[in-house]
Amino acid sequence: MIGSHVRAFRCRACGYCCYRNKVWDSYLAVDEGTLAKITGEGIEDITKNICTTQNQVKQLKCSGNQCSFLNKNNLCHINLQYGYEYLPDACKSYPRIIGVSTRGLEISLVFLCREAIKTIISQNKITFSDEKLTDLILPNNYHYELSSDDEYDLQLIKKYFEFLPKAIEGLQNRCLPLKQRLLILGEESLRLSECTETINFSATSIRDSLGILKEIIISRIGEADTDYTEPYIDNLKKIRGIIDDNTLSLAEYLRIKETFIDREYDKYEYVLENYLVNFMTTNIYFFNGAAFGYTMMMLLLASIQLFMAGYAAFYRRSLDEEIIILAIQNVDTAFFGHMNWFSPKITAIIKKHGICHSAKMAAALGQVL
Ligand code: SF4
Ligand code: SF4
Repeated sequence: MIGSHVRAFRCRACGYCCYRNKVWDSYLAVDEGTLAKITGEGIEDITKNICTTQNQVKQLKCSGNQCSFLNKNNLCHINLQYGYEYLPDACKSYPRIIGVSTRGLEISLVFLCREAIKTIISQNKITFSDEKLTDLILPNNYHYELSSDDEYDLQLIKKYFEFLPKAIEGLQNRCLPLKQRLLILGEESLRLSECTETINFSATSIRDSLGILKEIIISRIGEADTDYTEPYIDNLKKIRGIIDDNTLSLAEYLRIKETFIDREYDKYEYVLENYLVNFMTTNIYFFNGAAFGYTMMMLLLASIQLFMAGYAAFYRRSLDEEIIILAIQNVDTAFFGHMNWFSPKITAIIKKHGICHSAKMAAALGQVL
C-alpha cells in the first residue's frame, strides 16, 4: 500500500541527509548486498571509505560532520561516479521507510527531509494504490521494519490490519473537525487494545496529560548527548517551557495559539491530517498495539502544535507553510531515529503510566492543544 505522498516525493539533492550531525548513524550503514557488489567489483574508491563500528556495522566514513562521499557541491560522489545501484540501500530509500506486513509492503516517509514534508503539503488528501515498490526504489537487499522472524503478537497485528483502513478512512473524514476525528480514533484505539479507560477532559486529566508530555520531553532532552540532534533538542527545551508553569502557562500558550494559529488553522488542517495518515502507515502503530501507537501519534501531534505556536509567536506572524515545515521537521528529528522511532526511554515512560491511561491522556491532550 503506497500513499500518493510517497509517490510524489522527489529528492532535491540538497545534501541535508548526508550530514552526520543531522541524521542518525544508522543512515550511514552499508547493507550486505551493496557491500558485496562494491567489494566484488573491487571499487577501492568506495571500500577504503567504509569502516566497521564497535557494533560490527559496516558504515560509510564521515569527514567532519558529513558523509565522506558528499562533494563540495553537496552532491553524492558514489551516485555521480558509479551510479545509483552502488549507493547503500539506506541512501537509496531515504526518506522512505519500508515495512512488510501481512498485507504486503507499506511505505511511509520520515520528515527529517523538508522535501518529504512538502509532499504532505502538496497532496490535498493522501490516496493509496498497490503500485510496485520497484517502480519507486530498487534496493539491493530489502530490509523491512518487521520481518517474519520478528517476535510480535501476530494476533494483535492481524487485528491492526483490519482496523487500519477504517481508521485511515475515519481520519480523512472531513465532514468532522480533525479534533473530533482524533477523539473517535482514540476511543477506537482504546477499544482495540481492550482498554476500559474512558476519555475525560477534567482539569486534572488535562494536567496529567501535560505532565506525561513534559516527562517525555525532559527524557528526550536528557538523551541529547548521545545522538546528533542537539539543535532540535534545544528547541524541545523551549517547548518544555511552554508546559512548565514556572515559565509559560497553558493559558499563555492558548493565547498565543488564538493570536497566531487559529485564524489560519482550517487552511492547513489537511497537512496535519496527512502527517497523521503517514504515521498510521508506519509499522509503529502496531508494534505495541493501537493504544500505544495512538499515544505516540498524539504526542507527536501535540509537540508539532506547540512548535507551530512557538515559531509563529517568535516570528510574529500567522501560521503558514514554512512554520508547519519547521514544526514537523523539528519534531520528527527530535523524536525519531530511523527504525527505532521513539527511544526506549520514551516507550518506558508510556508503559510506566500504563498504556491505556497514557492513551486516554493523549486523547485529552489532542483536544486541548
Ligand atoms: S534531505 Fe531529502 S531532498 Fe535533501 S538530499 Fe536528502 S532526501 Fe534529498
Ligand atoms: S553515500 Fe551519497 S547519498 Fe549516501 S550519505 Fe553519502 S553522500 Fe549522501
